[in-house]
Amino acid sequence: YEAKRRGGGVMIYQRESDIHTPERLALMAELGTAIRDDQLVLHFQPKVQLSTNKIIGFEALVRWEHPFSGLLYPDKFIPLAEVSDAIHHLTEKVLDMALAQQQQWRQQGYHFSVAVNLSARNLIDDRCIVSLKQMLEKYQTPAGMLELELTETALMQDPDKAIELLNQLSQLGISLSIDDFGTGYSSLSYLRQLPIDTLKIDRDFVGEMLSNEQDIIIVRSTINLGHNLSLKVVAEGVEDNNTLNALGNMQCDIAQGYHISKPLSWPDIEKWLSSRAKD
Ligand code: C2E
Ligand code: MG
Ligand code: MG
Ligand code: MG
Repeated sequence: YEAKRRGGGVMIYQRESDIHTPERLALMAELGTAIRDDQLVLHFQPKVQLSTNKIIGFEALVRWEHPFSGLLYPDKFIPLAEVSDAIHHLTEKVLDMALAQQQQWRQQGYHFSVAVNLSARNLIDDRCIVSLKQMLEKYQTPAGMLELELTETALMQDPDKAIELLNQLSQLGISLSIDDFGTGYSSLSYLRQLPIDTLKIDRDFVGEMLSNEQDIIIVRSTINLGHNLSLKVVAEGVEDNNTLNALGNMQCDIAQGYHISKPLSWPDIEKWLSSRAKD
């Protein structure tokens, strides 16, 4: 994680040279089957609007129910998918599952947005916009109810191409967020050209902001920066109530983190929602 904070480009090079261990090669070979055979599942983490304490949506986070190794987290297999075309199929599968789930929410009368993470490689792939349009059509999704999360590092792999795609996505009405904001190397002059709606402050700054003077300065400045650019600001990695209250006092718009809920399967989230409603 430290490496990530220091430099995305370096990390990607290391990942690529690091993936040729026998375990990783085996996982890579199994990934295609996993996508086709429905071994990927989504967990959902709620996003809370701080001014109302209401749940406004969920981020979909992928997990792999591996037949022998148990539940695998994305850090184990997303980097493997990202070095090949597998990431295209993975993202398509995640979108399909997320929008199918959201359609079920609508049928139950819940109007939650759903957020899906895109990889750097998706941003330079012309098939991305095609499959997004197909999925919105397939599930009759109002485009504004889908949010896509993109990291600064991913955007910077091919900044011009990324702007082109983001403009197309925003014309469709899809909401766009910059994920892990503050950890990448994008410049403000680049970011202000992007049709984005939201900044997500990386949990690296939020986690210890009450005990680290510099972190709270970064969080406060990012909230102000976002608001001055007419963006919504999300704080990720909120792990306790004092942090939640402090973010509310700083006019942060939305919070996400273990203190509210860990990412859970939809049946578990439904139980959580009904126990929350009783409070
Ligand atoms: P992310 O998009 O920044 O997602 C937030 C990560 O932080 C999630 O880890 C989540 O479980 C974790 N998290 C949330 N709240 C807290 C907290 O209060 N404390 C701490 N310590 N952690 C918290 P997860 O699910 O392991 O995902 C890791 C990363 O993998 C994601 O970071 C995202 O970059 C990537 N990822 C996940 N799902 C997908 C996907 O479907 N497609 C792609 N391309 N990437 C994905
Ligand atoms: Mg994300
Ligand atoms: Mg993040
Ligand atoms: Mg992250």
